[in-house]
Amino acid sequence: MAKWVYMFTEGNATMRNLLGGKGANLAEMTNLGLPVPQGFTVTTEACTQYYEDGRQINDEIMKQILEAIDQMEVITGKKFGDKTNPLLVSVRSGARASMPGMMDTILNLGLNEEVVETLACASGNPRWAWDCYRRFIQMFSDVVMEVGKKYFEELIDQMKAKRGVKLDVELTADDLKELAEQFKAEYKEKIGTDFPTDPKEQLTEAIKAVFRSWDNPRANVYRRDNDIPYSWGTAVNVQMMAFGNMGDDCGTGVAFTRDPATGENGLFGEFLINAQGEDVVAGVRTPMHISEMEEKFPEAFVQFKQVCETLEKHYRDMQDMEFTVEHGKLYMLQTRNGKRTAKAALKIACDLVDEGMRTEEEAVTMIDPRNLDSLLHPQFDAKALKEATPLAKALGASPGAACGKIVFTADDAVEWAERGEKVVLVRLETSPEDITGMKSAQGILTVRGGMTSHAAVVARGMGTCCVSGCGDIAMDEANKKFTLAGKEYHEGDCISLDGSTGNIYDGIIPTVDATIAGEFGRIMGWADKYRTMKVRTNADTPHDAVKARELGAEGIGLCRTEHMFFEGNRIDAFREMICSETEEEREAALAKILPEQQGDFEKLYEALEGNPVTIRFLDPPLHEFVPTEEEDIKKLADAQGKTVEQIKTIIDSLHEFNPMMGHRGCRLAVTYPEIAKMQTRAVIRAAINVKKAHPDWNVKPEIMIPLVGDIKELKYVKKFVVETADAEIAAAGSDLEYEVGTMIEIPRAALTADQIASEADFFCFGTNDLTQMTYGFSRDDAGKFLDAYYDAKIFENDPFAKLDQTGVGKLMEMAIELGKPVNPSLHVGICGEHGGDPSSVEFCNKIGLDYVSCSPFRVPIARLAAAQAAI
Ligand code: ADP
Ligand code: MG
Ligand code: MG
Repeated sequence: MAKWVYMFTEGNATMRNLLGGKGANLAEMTNLGLPVPQGFTVTTEACTQYYEDGRQINDEIMKQILEAIDQMEVITGKKFGDKTNPLLVSVRSGARASMPGMMDTILNLGLNEEVVETLACASGNPRWAWDCYRRFIQMFSDVVMEVGKKYFEELIDQMKAKRGVKLDVELTADDLKELAEQFKAEYKEKIGTDFPTDPKEQLTEAIKAVFRSWDNPRANVYRRDNDIPYSWGTAVNVQMMAFGNMGDDCGTGVAFTRDPATGENGLFGEFLINAQGEDVVAGVRTPMHISEMEEKFPEAFVQFKQVCETLEKHYRDMQDMEFTVEHGKLYMLQTRNGKRTAKAALKIACDLVDEGMRTEEEAVTMIDPRNLDSLLHPQFDAKALKEATPLAKALGASPGAACGKIVFTADDAVEWAERGEKVVLVRLETSPEDITGMKSAQGILTVRGGMTSHAAVVARGMGTCCVSGCGDIAMDEANKKFTLAGKEYHEGDCISLDGSTGNIYDGIIPTVDATIAGEFGRIMGWADKYRTMKVRTNADTPHDAVKARELGAEGIGLCRTEHMFFEGNRIDAFREMICSETEEEREAALAKILPEQQGDFEKLYEALEGNPVTIRFLDPPLHEFVPTEEEDIKKLADAQGKTVEQIKTIIDSLHEFNPMMGHRGCRLAVTYPEIAKMQTRAVIRAAINVKKAHPDWNVKPEIMIPLVGDIKELKYVKKFVVETADAEIAAAGSDLEYEVGTMIEIPRAALTADQIASEADFFCFGTNDLTQMTYGFSRDDAGKFLDAYYDAKIFENDPFAKLDQTGVGKLMEMAIELGKPVNPSLHVGICGEHGGDPSSVEFCNKIGLDYVSCSPFRVPIARLAAAQAAI
């Protein structure tokens, strides 16, 4: 019979898939003999089963849950719902991968009117009893019944105002009792029934709510951003409560064994006296630094330091822990490998190698390639920063440089960002509902909250700059304004944030590009040592090529020649070519373009210093380039000696109903061979010149014919490319070698790859078009319906960002299997957007690609992902 429930004593850290991260680690800590309040875990499989059963907990699972409660009663000596010695529990979600703040937790479950009364008397601590009860009603209502948090918060604020106090802890037992009454009334008003009193019913509803929360919108967004499959489900942990809210010899804290922002080795965290659960992260009071705990709770602190050491040695990684002190006694509530900034991740991985805890290979696998992105973004210009005076200094919660216009709500952040504005989101504090807004912002600034507040944790996870806890701000959220350093700021005003120092500046401070040095360089060095697949870049200009080389690119996998035409007044000659009516007119225009292209290619070869350069011939529909402004049309007409009307007629004739499937790619070369011939001349002449100047470089152009679907297309175009190239080489008396290959981006090309390989020196998977044509939907229009596809669980990811391994991937595998036997020297790469996506890179490694090619800033990500795939 299936086992759906495990006591903490029955699990261990390797059972993460089944017990979730939190459950597996609670079990592991129990096994290590650490002080963990005992309890049990309902498995992730039970969650999946719950959904299969139509969102019901079936009888078998329910039976095992009730048996586990019985066992808990034996272990703790307390009884669920008992009036003299009641068992109170927390109900906590815990997926395989941690999803901080994404799902919900309920504390103090098991209380009702009678239990709380006896608890208040028996403990001699009525304030504590009523505090627990009001918290429980609040959390249960919010999490289980979805009565918004804000109603309860308003009632608390009213109560505080009435009593003339500022902090929750200043409310008395009677105040809290009154609040509990108000909360229950609020519940009844919103839900229509009385607040449930039977602890078993409370528990069942709470477990269902956790299962349900797996499918809530913010969890779905988080999963999509973090590559967590929907099918994993979440586990539920039911755990005896430890109370940090029983008085001033109690408290609760969150700590890291190393600094999650910088990676510095040393205890880092926050602690709040007389508090419970989320108080530390919710920012209701500003917590104290963990070091102060040493003075207030010397014994618990010593023990805690030992626990930290034990856990770090055991997991061989930086730990993020939650704990509670109840009457001076320490209880461990959670440990996990801590989330960290990219900068901290690099430092910690290097330190762990130096400390002998990890091997180089392990260090490489410890870094999430996606997080490197934040390090590759611009930093503040050091000189400008020095000259600027900060308005204020708060906590540097997530590093990076952010500047932009102020917005006050998550929705505004999304809206402004969509219309291309750079924004900084300024909030009193953030909550999980703000996640999409936080994603859209350059940076986040909060008035309340510490280093472990929601904003800080989520921002670090996203690699977004965040400055938190700026108490100097006098906030007026309702009127979208705040005052700081004597100045009033309104929506749309500019500020800059330094997420490393916590400094806040007026206006926009200029930024500079990032470089790979120090620990970043060390890790990348190890990555290069262990990877087998090459990493090239998609670069169209010498500037991008130089940048990509700095970031470690070993060649150009895709140079889109058409992008060169937008520079300066080159577009004029290009338009003349497009709007030509005879071959002679076209030749004349091409003659103007040839030297420009040749010059560009020379600069590219120079930048690449003998590394391979793949140049793709003209690909897009010509209509994209025609003039639309009257003035430009007139200019073109004059240049061509034609009337404006004639030019307009030509432009109209170029219009296509479905341009992405229209007159583009090799079809252009078939209809206008002179274009491909000109491009061949430019490529070959440039290569000959650069080779002459640098005889030691291996200059060997790779000419790539796009959008081939039939071997005959390739043959036809290749013939005059080869004729032209060979004539150029002979005329120059050079011994230059070159290759002619093709993009595989039409499904028919993949299906007939054996034929195509007989004519191609290389394949390069253009997975943007291949995805578009395999699915049959346009990459430019998919945005309109993808959200509906996510909601309906048809897609979990954007197939244009994350390779569809099942379908598109199958075509790729097939093409390689068909092509290689026909042409054993065939080299194969990918140059779609997917070349910089870690999970897609892993797939490319698996199916035996020689290289991936991605945009310059993704090169380090691809290098690391390729190493992880190889290790
Ligand atoms: P999250 O994943 O959002 O951190 P948790 O399940 O870890 O959610 O719980 C939220 C808060 O409640 C944490 O601060 C945790 O320490 C506290 N908490 C959870 N279970 C207990 C318990 N049994 N006793 C005391 N505090 C608890
Ligand atoms: Mg939570
Ligand atoms: Mg937690």
